[in-house]
Amino acid sequence: MQPTGQLVVFSGPSGVGKTTLLREVLSRARQPLVLSVSATTRPPRTGENDAEHYYFLSADDFALRRARGEFLECSEVFGRGHWYGTLSTEVAPRLAAGKWVVLEIDVDGAEQVLQKYPDALTIFIEPESSEILEHRLRGRGTESEDAVARRLEVARRELDRADRYRFRVVNDEVDRAAGEICAFLDRQASLASFGESKT
Ligand code: 5GP
Repeated sequence: MQPTGQLVVFSGPSGVGKTTLLREVLSRARQPLVLSVSATTRPPRTGENDAEHYYFLSADDFALRRARGEFLECSEVFGRGHWYGTLSTEVAPRLAAGKWVVLEIDVDGAEQVLQKYPDALTIFIEPESSEILEHRLRGRGTESEDAVARRLEVARRELDRADRYRFRVVNDEVDRAAGEICAFLDRQASLASFGESKT
């Protein structure tokens, strides 16, 4: 029998180092993890490619797909900013094929996912401190002062909701944090196979 897949949701404030940590987890995990590519209306940053980092959509195209119900979840991540969303086509076929589909999404999106997939493994990445987070956000140098201020405000609201996640990890050291996440995934995998062997 084909094993059913598992949805894994990563959230954490912008600037917390999710992308680097996720890359490490993807290369080390023992489960068949695949990263879902999100859609967004924000313009690409230098070095970002369509369909690799994001599906870069116009606001009209995004709205049309949203109206058609093509998104598993979506949210306007930065207040009056841009839309981000997970296309159902990124998720359902891979779950059916037994993959562990990884979403890197904000806390609003994670709540929408949990309504449809209550067993999703939710993981929250925390910064060492809010000072370090602010320093990193400014250091990236890709955002205007206004955008940095918005991201910081969103980060504060995201941190307030971290306790709704099943697993929380502080990203002070990528190697250690990735190890903790992989151990969590291993525990969940063995719980799932124990459940299967009982039935
Ligand atoms: P960035 O613009 O820096 O690439 O991403 C900003 C934030 O958007 C990230 O912190 C990430 O959590 C969130 N995000 C990225 N993709 C999605 C998505 O598909 N859905 C939702 N809800 N949030 C997303």
